[in-house]
Amino acid sequence: MSAAPLARKRTKPAPESSLPPEAYRQAVDQADLAISITDPRANILFANETFTRVTGYAPEEIVGKNESMLSNHTTPPELYKTMWADLSAQKPWSGRLLNRRKDGELYLAELTISPVVDAAGQTTHFLGMHRDITELHRLERVVANQKHLIESVVDAAPMALALLDPSGRVILDNQEYKKLVTDLRVKEPAHALLDGLTPAWRETLADDPRQLVMHNREARIDRAAGRARWLSVTSSVIGMHSDCADSYFCAAGQPGLLLVIADVTNLRDEQERARASALQAVLAEEERTAAIREGLSAAIFRLEEPMNVMTSAISVLQRRDPATATMLQMALNSSREHIETLRQVIPQSPQEIVVSVNINEILRDVLEVSTPRLLGAGIVVDWQPATTLPPILGRPLQLRMLFKALVDNAIEAMNIKGWKRRELSLTSARHGDCIVISVLDSGPGIPADWRLKAFEPFFTAKGGSGKHIGTGLSRAQQVVADHGGIIDLDESPSGGCAAIVEFRVDGDPI
Ligand code: FAD
Repeated sequence: MSAAPLARKRTKPAPESSLPPEAYRQAVDQADLAISITDPRANILFANETFTRVTGYAPEEIVGKNESMLSNHTTPPELYKTMWADLSAQKPWSGRLLNRRKDGELYLAELTISPVVDAAGQTTHFLGMHRDITELHRLERVVANQKHLIESVVDAAPMALALLDPSGRVILDNQEYKKLVTDLRVKEPAHALLDGLTPAWRETLADDPRQLVMHNREARIDRAAGRARWLSVTSSVIGMHSDCADSYFCAAGQPGLLLVIADVTNLRDEQERARASALQAVLAEEERTAAIREGLSAAIFRLEEPMNVMTSAISVLQRRDPATATMLQMALNSSREHIETLRQVIPQSPQEIVVSVNINEILRDVLEVSTPRLLGAGIVVDWQPATTLPPILGRPLQLRMLFKALVDNAIEAMNIKGWKRRELSLTSARHGDCIVISVLDSGPGIPADWRLKAFEPFFTAKGGSGKHIGTGLSRAQQVVADHGGIIDLDESPSGGCAAIVEFRVDGDPI
């Protein structure tokens, strides 16, 4: 219904031949809207056919009566006060009133009243237009009730629910989901989960949400404080009708994505505990093998030095004392055979297949297996994981060995008699296409000129200077390189050692 005021001052008379006054009258009379015209005190002067149909009053029964005759006297008086305040100010008024038909039946009227103002600025009449919106109101209530019912059911569900529109906006959620927001301290847990499960989800959601349909896929949300949460996500595509005007003649709307999120942390914790003890055994075994491998390699390396001397001696003696040279040559040959035998018994590292790996899980595992040593050395751990990390392709055991070696080095560096500050900071973060992991300790640190040498095989700073940078860094560098990453040593903010490892998210392991 238009609510434009009828007050106007004409500067130019309307062209009289364009529309005969009778046409106005017939148009008003036959309009499918209850129209009445009153005097300034709301006494009815005219009512059209639809007015009679809606109210039940014939023109002769209503003309001369006040509009208040329609009132059921249950409309709040404040509403009439506002109505009359607007009308007295010559402003149009619109609102909903409860009316009573002639037969006593109540109906809800949506009414617009416009003051008719003459050239002298006086309100001469009021034009009232109303329609029966009882059915519309009933439908509005049905929708509101249904919404309330759906929300109550959805809120009572023991799992978190979030409905995402094609742009990724959460347009419906429940109490459990709201709880996740506070528990996880993330703005939108649905986004954090999808970031971890399907990093390119935003584009996929807009293009083809069916590709995001998943069943019980588990994702881990790491928190700086408190234990990590494991959430299982099931998603389905929901057809939604667009509410934009341009979609009026075509019902098709864009589909939304419904996420059903269940907390499976307790279950996963149990599995994790069992897995951690199995892992501890595997890592201990692998460490033992690595120690044998390194010991034997170092021994061979050292044995090769005198053999090189022997080779030079043989070439010198060849002419002066051929008999001794031959004896030496025999001794050298037999030594080479023994060294070869030694080389063959060096245990090989197990061949691991490349799988999708979550670096946060690897770091958690390492912290878990290192906990007894960390506690024993009185080291305070600051674990700052990225809330979610995209998976990388890698060899989980080798990666665990890598970070365990870095953590072990940090523990060893700080576990010096009398060393006061014992802090280990472990951080994972995503920087663009890279995942950056920092292992910082508050030990004595590594002198700048040792930082490169530290990666050489068999390099150790043990003894001599009293500063120990640990073993296995050459192996660690090999693992990082095998995963297409880089490792650097630097000074940590506390003056200790900072080991920074960087992997590319799309990096291919060798
Ligand atoms: P009333 O005694 O009529 O008035 C209630 C309050 O309204 C008073 O306290 C007074 O402050 C104020 N008021 C009343 N008349 C005037 C006035 N002339 N100038 C300034 N203030 C005034 N009401 C309905 O309930 N249903 C309708 O469908 C409806 N249609 C209307 C259509 C038109 C064109 C107009 C002008 C009014 C319409 N009204 C309608 C309002 C109606 O005139 C009454 O004001 C209302 O029904 C309240 O009636 P009442 O008997 O309870 O109180």
